Amino acid sequence: MSDDCIFCSIVAGEIPARTVYETDAVLAFLDANPLSPGHTLVIPKAHERRVADLDAALASDLFDAVATLTPAAQDAVDADAANVGINDGEAAGQEVPHVHVHVVPRFEGDGGAPIHAVAGQRPDLSDTELDSIADDVAAAVGE
Ligand code: AMP
Ligand code: ZN
Repeated sequence: MSDDCIFCSIVAGEIPARTVYETDAVLAFLDANPLSPGHTLVIPKAHERRVADLDAALASDLFDAVATLTPAAQDAVDADAANVGINDGEAAGQEVPHVHVHVVPRFEGDGGAPIHAVAGQRPDLSDTELDSIADDVAAAVGE
């Protein structure tokens, strides 16, 4: 637990939240400033800042909960679809430094955008550059 983390305070019961799901390792609650009805945050109870900080067991528990909650949140508000995403790091828009998965129910014609809209202008990468990037990522995974 981190003393100055709002999500740790929710886990500890020190501030209220609209909890919708809980296991030993994971908690899910409604986002206080929802992007759509049913917008849910799924978090590890342990204070982990970034995706890279999750060990395999916790990552598995977290994604299990996401797989359970995505259809549940969608069905609860009669949505047609959902976006599932993580802002991992400040440059990607992470404001609360405790890993959280956004589950955002979506509706036909709601005027929103796909997750492809999150980045800036698309890069124009050559085949050579793509090959090189693929090699670099594969090497990084192997580290
Ligand atoms: P992010 O930009 O990915 O860090 O998103 C943080 C999310 O946490 C935002 O969507 C906020 O609306 C939400 N949030 C912040 N404080 C609370 C809170 N006390 N209860 C529920 N959701 C919160
Ligand atoms: Zn925390």
